[in-house]
Amino acid sequence: MIFSPLPGTPLITQGFGQNPETYSAWNLAGHNGIDFGVSTGTTVYAPHDGTATVVNDGASGYGMHLIITDVKRKSFLAHLSEVSVSNGQAVFQGDPIGKSGNSGESSGPHLHWTYKIVKNGAVQNKENGYDGAVDVTEFTRLWLDQDMHHDATYTDFASEYLAMNFSGDAYLENPNRHA
Ligand SMILES: [Zn+2]
Repeated sequence: MIFSPLPGTPLITQGFGQNPETYSAWNLAGHNGIDFGVSTGTTVYAPHDGTATVVNDGASGYGMHLIITDVKRKSFLAHLSEVSVSNGQAVFQGDPIGKSGNSGESSGPHLHWTYKIVKNGAVQNKENGYDGAVDVTEFTRLWLDQDMHHDATYTDFASEYLAMNFSGDAYLENPNRHA
């Protein structure tokens, strides 16, 4: 299950497939993701596990953005002001990965999220008019059943406890985190 990269019930300001006349310039049938209206500096969280790729396109395209890839999917989190993970780093669902912004071709502060399905190392549905992007809202859960171990905020004192080594049978991982 995929979680929203923003906690709570964030405001979606542009849906998937909207504004075809604008996106025809990029050979797309419409908006290839969803946009959240959030102010610059809002913490963005990994919607799913994967390996991070950090890209900075400066004033063009997605601007500073992060791609998170695993064997089943690929997320592009775009127009960031700051990235807090490094290239090639393994990230886990719920990890803070950076801050939203207004970089690249962006008409105002927002977070853009493109989602693609991957199988055998290849993006699926490449001929769907969106270069394989699909409407991620179909797959996404809001943060209603957060995992306290990974997703809560802890004091330094409390996080030391989290760093303790548990034996395999003492620390049971939620199998749904990696679904
Ligand atoms: Zn967008």
